[in-house]
Amino acid sequence: MKLLNFVSQYPDEASCRAKFKEYRDKQGVICPHCGGKAHYWKKDKENYEGKACGKRQSLRANTVMHGSQLPFRYWFIAIHLLTSTKKSFPPRNFNVS
Ligand SMILES: [Zn+2]
Repeated sequence: MKLLNFVSQYPDEASCRAKFKEYRDKQGVICPHCGGKAHYWKKDKENYEGKACGKRQSLRANTVMHGSQLPFRYWFIAIHLLTSTKKSFPPRNFNVS
């Protein structure tokens, strides 16, 4: 996926957060307090709440974004650049002369 397509697919913070949540849900959210896997999603606070213990964790908890104040979109673009670079490394037009 080209960066421009990527950027237009995720034009704002909301779309990035929604995508990131989808990703976390797919990976499975694990409670850092009790290890429980079942969570409620608190949309207003953007937190997961453990069904077993009621403790909350943020959408960013236990991810690369943990503790970061940077916008999700920033991370999305950075991660996209890293992974797309990895796939085509070294880039074809990379001139080593
Ligand atoms: Zn828990």
